[in-house]
Amino acid sequence: MSTTKVAEYCYQCVAGPDLLNVCVEDGVATRVEPNWKFGDIHPAAGRVCVKAYGLIQKTYNPFRVKKPMVRTNPVKAQDADPQWKEVTWDEALDLIAQKLLAVKAKGVRDESGYPRLAVTFGSGGIAPAYTGALPAFLSTWGPVDFGIGSGQGVKCYHSEHLYGEFWHRAFTVQSDTPRTNYLISFGNNNDASGGVLGVWRHAQARERGLKRVQFEPHLSVTGAHAQWVPVKPKTDAAVMYALIHTILHEHDWRKECDVEFLRGMTNSPYLIAPNGLFLRDETSRKPLMWDEKENRARPFDEAFTPAMDGTYTTSGITIGADQELTNFENIQAATSFQKLIDHVRDYTPEWAEKISGAPAATIRQVAREFLENANVGATIEIEGKTYPYRPVAILLGKTVTNGWGGYEALWGRTMLAILVGALEVPGGTIGTTVRLNRPGHDRLASARPGPDGFMDQPLNPTDKENWVAKPKIRNAYQTLVPLANNSPWSAALGPAHLPWLFMKEPPENWPRPTTPEVW
Ligand code: SF4
Repeated sequence: MSTTKVAEYCYQCVAGPDLLNVCVEDGVATRVEPNWKFGDIHPAAGRVCVKAYGLIQKTYNPFRVKKPMVRTNPVKAQDADPQWKEVTWDEALDLIAQKLLAVKAKGVRDESGYPRLAVTFGSGGIAPAYTGALPAFLSTWGPVDFGIGSGQGVKCYHSEHLYGEFWHRAFTVQSDTPRTNYLISFGNNNDASGGVLGVWRHAQARERGLKRVQFEPHLSVTGAHAQWVPVKPKTDAAVMYALIHTILHEHDWRKECDVEFLRGMTNSPYLIAPNGLFLRDETSRKPLMWDEKENRARPFDEAFTPAMDGTYTTSGITIGADQELTNFENIQAATSFQKLIDHVRDYTPEWAEKISGAPAATIRQVAREFLENANVGATIEIEGKTYPYRPVAILLGKTVTNGWGGYEALWGRTMLAILVGALEVPGGTIGTTVRLNRPGHDRLASARPGPDGFMDQPLNPTDKENWVAKPKIRNAYQTLVPLANNSPWSAALGPAHLPWLFMKEPPENWPRPTTPEVW
């Protein structure tokens, strides 16, 4: 019997790729084992998780599809047997070619303007290498509807992706685990689902003293190695709001928060008009801040140290939707940070305890430890460059970011990181490598300043001139979802339930969402 070891990798989930060896005996794969040879370059040291060990069964599953299959549909009904029939590759390719040629002959778009060809992949994150020449073929075809079957508008946790893309330039976020000292998790079951690397990194971090606090209704594997704080399902945001309240109302934020970061990198000092919009200079139209030394409002980009909190009597304009201008004379304008302080005034730990069940004393303990561990003012040198060092992070589980309450939870997480400057710095909460923002090769290259001093966000336009009024594909993400931005992934992330909702009854003045002819 001849036995060989074939170096391979597993990419069954986004935590990969992870390296492994497949043992092959007489041409048959018999076993998966770690590939220790690459221990020093693979972040998980050549290990794979238990799921990868099942790849052998998956490969030789006797019920796997071995040849192309055609669904003959003698009776097309929900409970009817579709009667799949095996065909040869030639027959399958001829069938597809016939259909595609017929579409080409009629025109790649139908009379409503929608692509006649739709394509759905089994997984949004499928590695391009697995799809062979198909992407190249599709790119020569012309318009293809990628938005009809992905289903992500229905099931996916867009709040995580949205906040990830906005504030971390990444699809999902993680703790900088090798450098984090204090980790608050709301239902993030890393030790079960963090992939081999995630589990290993957390274990190493715990060994060197990382403290984890786990808010979740049930005691998970991760919670078992943490300070477990039971909470009622979907009340995570209430706990986070109370943490913010405690930091801003029960601690001295001037001493314990990262005021330098808040002042220089956020809208904290920007003045807010009574209508909720940024108050702007009438001539330059730039947002205003308050100069306490000169006792006057000044445009944000002038050289002075603006007030962080307080309410000031001043004048200016606001620019609303469709450039609508409003004048304000001698009004009371609060800073954004003052608005935040006021906003969380009622979210006391006692208020959160009633909602979540988490004891008020525990919320105060966590807020205190979070501030203590944030190390505000500390720096770290990495590869010759000095960065702020804020070793506190917050992770959210999928049930927390999914569905109702998701956006509030993400707001809470982002705000907590911002208060201590732990956003996108070593030790804090940072973006992962998957992203929609372009360019794809550099996560931070898309973080550019916009005209008002904020990070420029590539949203789909909503102004009259540039708004895409007529959808080009059935999920209409460019028409209806400005936050999606028009990137290569957007079609798969758009509200994919819309094609199904509108198939019979289109919205008024829309092209009828016809069904694709080849899907
Ligand atoms: S975490 Fe497990 S399933 Fe995911 S890529 Fe790595 S080995 Fe494969």
